[in-house]
Amino acid sequence: MNTTRREFLKLGLTLGAGAALQPLLGCEAKAALHSRREYLFGTEVELAVESASPREGEMALSEVVERFTGMNRDWHAWKPGALSRLNARLAAGEMAEVDTELASLIDGARALSARSGGLFNPALGELIALWDFQSDTQTRRAPPEAAQIAALCAHAPRMDALHIEATADGARIHSASPHVRLDFGGYAKGVALDRALDQFAGRGLGNAVVNLGGNLAVSGRRQGRPWRIGVRHPQGEGVIAALEVEGRAAVVTSGTYERYREWNGERYPHIIDPRTGYPARHIASATVLHPEGGLADAAATALVVAGPQDWPRIARAFGIREALVVDETGAVQLTPAMARRAQVQEGVPVRVV
Ligand code: FAD
Ligand code: MG
Repeated sequence: MNTTRREFLKLGLTLGAGAALQPLLGCEAKAALHSRREYLFGTEVELAVESASPREGEMALSEVVERFTGMNRDWHAWKPGALSRLNARLAAGEMAEVDTELASLIDGARALSARSGGLFNPALGELIALWDFQSDTQTRRAPPEAAQIAALCAHAPRMDALHIEATADGARIHSASPHVRLDFGGYAKGVALDRALDQFAGRGLGNAVVNLGGNLAVSGRRQGRPWRIGVRHPQGEGVIAALEVEGRAAVVTSGTYERYREWNGERYPHIIDPRTGYPARHIASATVLHPEGGLADAAATALVVAGPQDWPRIARAFGIREALVVDETGAVQLTPAMARRAQVQEGVPVRVV
């Protein structure tokens, strides 16, 4: 595999957290490929869709951007919006009403949390905030006191503390524990990928790509050829593997290398192990390929928590056939189906598990 990060960038694309799109914007797209860039969800957003009609293509892009803007506001864990209002009510032990979109986000997350045995746990907002990961900036401070971490961990907030009762226009929610604080940083972007591709498909636009800071989803083909997606090397420059994908698929990467807190030369990455309250750090990145972006996002986060020995068990629990994990030594482990698809960079140790 000789594709380098520079070659990806030459094509005018920003590399996100986990993956890069080689062929998308610009180049030979002619009039048929319409694209948009935004900054939402705290990351670069790139959209591209093929349409014979420029007007239709532009309208489809505007619709998705508008929907993403609403999600970004309503699902934000630490800025004012529907989710922070919900969190305040749950903390006060009160019943809250949410709209259909937020209700379905919570419901989906609860089911996936159960599948992961609680390793994917979006109820952990108090701990995530304690570690300073509900912030626009990377902090350089000593880690929280062990006693504070232990105290929040002892409350063991879990998604199954939530009682959700459907209503005509959403749901009523309350929590058996006042320590459930919802944070969908590990899930909402995956759901947004699904919603965007559904929206394009609803207009009959079946060839599209959505990239949310390296979490991406494609549908169809790219001008008659498969999409080619690069998985970024978590410990260096360039890509560690390339994947060819056609049809509908999300390729989502979670990693410990990009968002972390640093103190005295030590890094504390942003994915928290709910069993200990401390950051998970033995997997550098986990990439999941699956038709559903929401599932892929939750699962990729859970695989990082599970660690280099246990991740295959969690992948099975999610029904994932294609996953690629880079451990802290830089070695690649992959599932047999992913081994058939991925072109891993030469010289990287590889083990099929
Ligand atoms: P993932 O592995 O998918 O998610 C990790 C994130 O999930 C953590 O950062 C934490 O939030 C949460 N988490 C940690 N441990 C667990 C666990 N065990 N189970 C479940 N979840 C866990 N960032 C900004 O800097 N500024 C913004 O304005 C901003 N706005 C956002 C708005 C929305 C609606 C969302 C969803 C995110 C926003 N972000 C923002 C967050 C930013 O995009 C994060 O970097 C991102 O969500 C982490 O995603 P990831 O794909 O890198 O990692
Ligand atoms: Mg995730």
